[in-house]
Amino acid sequence: MTKLKIGWVGLGNMGTPMVKNLLSKGFSVCVYNRTREKEEELIKLGASSADSLQHLSQVSEVIVTMITDDEAVEQVYYSSNSLLTNPSPGILLIDMSTVSTQISKKLAKDCSDKDVRFLEAKVSGSVKPAEEGQLVIMAGGAMSDYQKSVPVFDALGKRSFYMGEVGIASAAKLCLNYFLALTMQGLAETTLFAQRMNIDTEDMLNLVNESALGSGVTRLKSHAILSNDFSPAFALKHIAKDLRLVQKEGMTFPLFSPLLATFQAAFQMGYGEDDAISIIKFLDKMVAGLRVTESFATHNLP
Ligand code: NAP
Repeated sequence: MTKLKIGWVGLGNMGTPMVKNLLSKGFSVCVYNRTREKEEELIKLGASSADSLQHLSQVSEVIVTMITDDEAVEQVYYSSNSLLTNPSPGILLIDMSTVSTQISKKLAKDCSDKDVRFLEAKVSGSVKPAEEGQLVIMAGGAMSDYQKSVPVFDALGKRSFYMGEVGIASAAKLCLNYFLALTMQGLAETTLFAQRMNIDTEDMLNLVNESALGSGVTRLKSHAILSNDFSPAFALKHIAKDLRLVQKEGMTFPLFSPLLATFQAAFQMGYGEDDAISIIKFLDKMVAGLRVTESFATHNLP
């Protein structure tokens, strides 16, 4: 069976290893990235490059977008010379970015009005699973479009799920990232609390990871904490963005507000480009600051 000709938009931390996987599995991939220099590495590996988004939508059978947020999606699909300017008939557009359910539904409708197929396909898993083709993919849209995309999903991930109509997969992805943010802050607070009780950090993290509490996330992020390496696999700005999307969906459960406030504050304090687990550095500073304020207040009591 001939493989689909794939167009790809978005060569960030996730997009680049995902395209590498497609190339290594024999797909022909044409790439387009806003910052064109990021295409060079992939061109050396056999990708071609499109002059514009409009050009990409005329030479591809399937186009995947893996870009930052709703605003990026607006630009890539709707601006002049964009994916929806003059797409080739029957083309299938797949958005893998973590975005709102609203923009996903708007895309589905606008694509349908232009006789273009649309699928949302959200991913769970960070850079390492992307490199290893071990992502978990959740898709929403027409079943026939999902089935057509399965060879692509199989190249990128270990498992794909068909979730139903467009919007459901985006919603499921936001649920997962709510849990992810809880896990990260939980791990960070536990580690800092352990340090304050003079427990060796490595011992504590080993205990977490060998106990029933251990998970892929705690293991990966323990490594980042111990090696003091906060280079972004999943940038903190993205989890802050996802929590804002969760808020827009009407989340009111009790742990949510402090979680959002913490990640937002960390983002505003300049941790956005670091990995999301840098929340531990922010919390450490925040609590140290509170202790200074408290001791100052106690010292100055009349
Ligand atoms: P990233 O490294 O920040 O890359 C973002 C990509 O989007 C870049 O290619 C960027 O282009 C492009 N972009 C941003 N704004 C744009 C615009 N206005 N027009 C055109 N292109 C634009 O992000 P990432 O980590 O790869 O994540 C991509 C998406 O996947 C996000 O929605 C994220 O939440 C989601 N996600 C990430 C992870 C993870 O672990 N990293 C896991 C699952 C899902 P430039 O190169 O020009 O900046």
